[in-house]
Amino acid sequence: SYGEDAGGEDDLVVRPPVVTVMGHVDHGKTRLLDTIRKANVMGGEAGGITQHIGAYQVMAELDGYERPITFIDTPGHEAFTAMRARGAKSTDIAVIVVAADDGVMPQTVEAINHAQAADVPVVVAVNKIDKEGANPDKIRQQLTEYNLVAEEYGGDTMFVDISAKQGTNIDQLLEAILLTADAALDLRANPNMEAQGVAIEAHLDRGRGPVATVLVQRGTLRVGDSIVAGDASGRVRRMFDEHGEDITEAYPSRPVAVVGFTSVPGAGDTFLVVDEDRVARQIADRRRARERNAELASRRKRVSLEDLDAALKETNQLNLIIKGDNSGTVEALEDALMKIEVGDDVELRVIHRGVGGITEGDVNLAIADNVIVLGFNVRAEGKATELANREGVEIRYYSVIYQAIDEIEQALKGLLKPEYEEVVLGHAEVRQVFRSSRFGSIAGCLVMDGIIRRNAKARLLRDSVVVAENLTVNSLRRVKDDVVEVREGFECGLTLGNFNDVKDGDMIETYELREKPRA
Ligand code: GDP
Repeated sequence: SYGEDAGGEDDLVVRPPVVTVMGHVDHGKTRLLDTIRKANVMGGEAGGITQHIGAYQVMAELDGYERPITFIDTPGHEAFTAMRARGAKSTDIAVIVVAADDGVMPQTVEAINHAQAADVPVVVAVNKIDKEGANPDKIRQQLTEYNLVAEEYGGDTMFVDISAKQGTNIDQLLEAILLTADAALDLRANPNMEAQGVAIEAHLDRGRGPVATVLVQRGTLRVGDSIVAGDASGRVRRMFDEHGEDITEAYPSRPVAVVGFTSVPGAGDTFLVVDEDRVARQIADRRRARERNAELASRRKRVSLEDLDAALKETNQLNLIIKGDNSGTVEALEDALMKIEVGDDVELRVIHRGVGGITEGDVNLAIADNVIVLGFNVRAEGKATELANREGVEIRYYSVIYQAIDEIEQALKGLLKPEYEEVVLGHAEVRQVFRSSRFGSIAGCLVMDGIIRRNAKARLLRDSVVVAENLTVNSLRRVKDDVVEVREGFECGLTLGNFNDVKDGDMIETYELREKPRA
């Protein structure tokens, strides 16, 4: 996990575990985070917390020693996955909350899958034991199916029965977190270097300007440091903790709110301290300039069966999610897939399987892990297709097992060649939108790179996010003339068929699909 530094052994010191609380809706994640925060205010007086800064530290006792634990104060796996999707690892241990009067539910399973996919050890908090009908043993039984076997059943997962509402066994839960950290992880970091870490949350404060809560992962962050997070830079003018108290130095695993950025970093952005403000600014500028292109490229870089070759060269791993109409077929498909002969250096992994349609949760998991989703006799539900399209996640539908096997086998052997490949022609930024009763929205654009061509396919990006796909450049004009093409550096007016939701600042990407030679 993060924080293990290459630096000399002598530089490494123990750092507190960083914990995320996940689980099904209404099982008590928020209540638990509140209870822990209130019951165990670091530094003493209860109710002393004056700031919600996105993460907090509490003290827990183990074997007579007081030790800190850092909690990410956003319940749920969305933040966890969003950070992972951006390449940041923020969490050492996942606390999975399961309500004892309800049992294992879909989002419980999702949370477990997220934790396991990220190689993060799990502590199970069996919550609401104060309620009638609570059955903590049933929860233990249910979770054995997901490879979470309680210690008392001979496994190595710690289960703690709690009531977040009444504050029962909270100390035991904290103790279990420390024990799990000690048993499964080597949490050490080098404090003697310039700080690095991850932004957990950021917002624009009226009085203070951009305020970002960052988690220091290595090094020590100090007031006065020049800092860059994502494409935001600045100098640390002030730092305060969850009590609203000013601090001047933040050590590994310490969450701290930083004042002094000139713009708001994104949640999940990694940060680092550099020598001078100028350097921070330059890095941020360069990142901002590159971001657009990089994000465009990353959409196309995602794994698909077609460009598996390139993907395998990078990762040597093909991750799959299998969703099917019943558990029998899902198992059969997984079994058959596992029998595919792959090269010694290639690993085929099924990271999540389940019965039912493909959900947004499945797609989110796929984003974080570069996964191909296989739907067997099922389809994507609700907004899952939209999300998959936007994020470039490949979903393949099958209704015949051997066909699925065959395709994946071919792909792994590099035999499956795409029929079409997408070639980006260019980008135009929308400068002004004219509404015409006859033509709808006419976008007045400046061609930023490449060319814009009439009849080419197009997609619309807003802040680098695809908001519409599968459009066509229907008409294209330079000054008053209809033209076929407009090149970089020139202005033009264009329409996108019936699509009218165009705004200033939008980016129009045009592309063509070209037939690929078959092997
Ligand atoms: P979340 O959606 O997982 O964040 O769930 P909440 O923390 O919002 O809790 C959902 C509901 O369950 C709230 O009404 C809580 O007060 C209640 N709740 C949470 N923990 C407990 C508990 O230990 N016992 C009881 N009886 N109710 C609880």
